[in-house]
Amino acid sequence: MAQHNPPIKPKVTPIYQTSVFTFDDLTELEAYFEQPSQRYMYARYSNPNANELAEEVNKLEQGDGAVVTSSGMSAIFAAILLFCQAGDHVLCAEEIYGGSSVLLNQELNRMGITVTYVPVESLYNLSSFTKPNTKLLLAETMSNPLLRVLDIAQVAAACHQENIKLVIDNTFASPIITQPLALGADAVIHSVTKYLAGHSDVTAGIVVTKGEEQVKRIRQIMMHYGLNLSPFESWLAVRGLKTLRLRIKQHSSNALTIAQYLSAHPKVNRVYYPGLAAHPDYELAKIQGQDLFGGMLSFAIADDEAVVNKFMQSLPSIPFAPSLAGVSTSISHPVRTSHRSLNSVKRDALGITMGVIRLSVGVEEPEEILAELKEALKVI
Ligand SMILES: *Cc1c(COP(=O)(O)O)cnc(C)c1O
Repeated sequence: MAQHNPPIKPKVTPIYQTSVFTFDDLTELEAYFEQPSQRYMYARYSNPNANELAEEVNKLEQGDGAVVTSSGMSAIFAAILLFCQAGDHVLCAEEIYGGSSVLLNQELNRMGITVTYVPVESLYNLSSFTKPNTKLLLAETMSNPLLRVLDIAQVAAACHQENIKLVIDNTFASPIITQPLALGADAVIHSVTKYLAGHSDVTAGIVVTKGEEQVKRIRQIMMHYGLNLSPFESWLAVRGLKTLRLRIKQHSSNALTIAQYLSAHPKVNRVYYPGLAAHPDYELAKIQGQDLFGGMLSFAIADDEAVVNKFMQSLPSIPFAPSLAGVSTSISHPVRTSHRSLNSVKRDALGITMGVIRLSVGVEEPEEILAELKEALKVI
């Protein structure tokens, strides 16, 4: 690398777009092996941009260490491998990200890791679901699309009573709203793609965990399976992360305003938002989330595909985009996207019907979002 005199001192970490780092001699190489966390050797093992992202999120989540990964899915994969091997059994909350259940059902079972799904109401008493080879429970802080909130301290206690680990997918809440490790979870994962990066332009994931042994092991898993994140994606996510707190506050206050508006609208049959007193988890969400309820909400209009299409077409600029947590508002449709493969009897029983629209509330002025919804609701 070119040497600069006087040295260049950037305020922001540059993108270290290099796949490998150099050494002067064998003595310097040995120094790397003695203290790998102080130096860099090969970008897949670690690089300054990925490390910066890992450290910043680790601080927010109050962990002992973190690794960033190529996606939320690779983070979930890594977190399961942190505690499981062939022959083990895992528990998974029944309301879970679709990709997580596909990973468990279609891939990990081929590697000899089996799964049992636990209904929401049984998550606090796991004794009838655990087996001698059960190693962990995977659950989400806030479920999609009904925004059920998990009492993490209570679930952690239930897991530890059964001698199993708790892995929390904290994607919907973000560490601004909930810090699962402080409440007893053993590992936290995020789809960094969503709120942490926040601008709908990065695909990334992270696993944060506690204890020296677990931190060491999660680093090995990331390196050995090649689940690493590129310097540029890391850099973008670090940039997004700087405004996380500001964004979450605005997402949350906008979502509350919109949830209240929709609750009073004659064409809206149900609203699911934990910040509404009518939501079954309101009291818990209020305490656990420090008065922030997040930017995700769902609501039901008529259970009629034509009406749903009309509603989507009539939103002047809010797009239908099957992802979430960007700075600009978008809608999604659980029945046809995230919950497509769930059987329809189960879906109906949960209340996830054709008319359910999921809103990822952005950070625009609330009046702008309200005006759009008003317009589309007028037409249907
Ligand atoms: C999107 C998402 C994932 C998967 O993350 P990717 O970055 O798409 O791999 C996992 N869990 C939740 C809750 C998600 O919303």
